Amino acid sequence: MIGSEAPRLPALASRLGRAETAAAVQMSTRAREMRAAGHNVISLAIGEPDFPTPALGIEAAHRAALDGLTKYPPVDGLPVLKAAVQRKFRRDQGLDFPLSQIMVTNGGKQAIFNAFAATVDEGDEIVIPSPYWSSYALTAQVLGGVPVTVPCPANNGFRLRPEDLDAAITARTKWVVLNAPNNPTGAAYTAEQLAALAEVLRRHPHVWLFSDEIYEHLRYDGLGSISIAAVAPDLADRVLVMSGVSKTYAMTGWRIGFCGGPAGLIRAMVVMQSHATAGISTVGQAAAAAVLDGPQDVVGEMVAAYHRRRDLVVGMLRQAPGMTCAVPEGAFYVFPSIAGCIGRLSAGGQPIDTDRDFATALLEEQHVAVVHGAAFGMSPYLRISYATDDASLEDACRRIIEFCEALT
Ligand code: PLP
Repeated sequence: MIGSEAPRLPALASRLGRAETAAAVQMSTRAREMRAAGHNVISLAIGEPDFPTPALGIEAAHRAALDGLTKYPPVDGLPVLKAAVQRKFRRDQGLDFPLSQIMVTNGGKQAIFNAFAATVDEGDEIVIPSPYWSSYALTAQVLGGVPVTVPCPANNGFRLRPEDLDAAITARTKWVVLNAPNNPTGAAYTAEQLAALAEVLRRHPHVWLFSDEIYEHLRYDGLGSISIAAVAPDLADRVLVMSGVSKTYAMTGWRIGFCGGPAGLIRAMVVMQSHATAGISTVGQAAAAAVLDGPQDVVGEMVAAYHRRRDLVVGMLRQAPGMTCAVPEGAFYVFPSIAGCIGRLSAGGQPIDTDRDFATALLEEQHVAVVHGAAFGMSPYLRISYATDDASLEDACRRIIEFCEALT
C-alpha cells in the first residue's frame, strides 16, 4: 500500500440512523438462535399465520408460471389482480374504486413506503395512534417525517378518541394513520366510532388518512369488515385504503398488498414504486387474484380458529399473577398489561424494571418469545401473537404463568 493511511470506506447515509430493525424481528431472530442452540423455544413474537396458503392460490401461481406469466408486470399491478381487488373492495367493504385508483404493492408494507415517499416533506407530521405497528413511525422518520403519537390507553378500549385526534392535528400534519383491527391491541371500531373520527377529519381538509385494513376480516365481534372510506364517502379524495392477502389468506411470503385511493395519489405512489421495485412478482399476483376471487370459506375457517385461540390465551393469561388481559375484538394479538410484574425479580435473578426486561427474561428463562409494549409505543405491556397452533399456545401460556408465579 502506498502511504500509511487505511483506505476510506464509502459512507452510509445519515437516514440510516433513523431506521432501526423492528423489535418483533429482533425477538424472533433471537428465538431462532436459541432454537438452533437446542432450546425448545415457542415464538409468539411475529404476526404470521401458521396456516398454509390456500391450495387454489398455489395452483394459480404454478399455472401462471407455466403459461408464461414470467415477464415484467405493469408497475401498478396485473389487470387480472386489479380487477379482483376492485371486486373485493365492492364485495367486502362496499367501496367502488375505478381501476385507475387501485394499485398492487409488495405487501401492504410497501403501500406505506410509497404513500409517505410520495407525499412527506422534511418536517411533515404523521399522526399515529399509539400503541401502533412500528413501521409507520420508522418509515415516516426515514423519509424525514415526524411521527406524532396519540396515546389510546386501555380505558378507551385502545381506541382513538375524536377529541384526541383533533388535538393532535396541526398545520404541519400530512397524514393521520388509522389501523383497525389494530396491531398490537386488536382494537376495532364500529361504524359510529369511525363516523366520529371522520367528522374530525372534515375540519382539517389538508390532512390525508391512511387506513390500514390488513386485518379487516379478523374480527370476532360479528361486525365484519368496516372501512372508514365507506362510512365517510365524502372524504374519498384524501383517504387511502390499504389491505392485502398476507393475514387474511395466510400468504405473508407472497408479498402482495393493495390499496385504493385518490387517482393523483395512486399515480404518485406508482412513480415511487417504479423506482423501488418496478412492479410486483407476477406469480404472487396470480395467486392473490385466485384467492380473492375464490370461495371465501377458507377465511371463515381461519377466523374461527383464531377466535378459539384468542379465548384460550386470554383465559390462561388471566391466571398469570401481575398480568391484566383485555379481550381484543380483532387481529391475532393480545396485549396484556404487566404493570403488576414491574419492580420484581425473575426466578433467574433478573430485575424486571421494564417490559423489555420482562420479554428478555421470559425468553432466556422460559424460552417463550413475545414483544415488549415499548416497541409499539406503550408500556408496560406485551404483544403476544396467537397465530400459532393451540398446543403451542397452551404450552407457552403455561410457561408465562410459571414465570409470573416465580417473580419475587
Ligand atoms: N399493517 C399492519 C398493521 C401489519 O401488522 C402488517 C404486518 O405485520 C402489515 C401492515 C404488513 O403486511 P404485509 O406483510 O402485507 O406487508
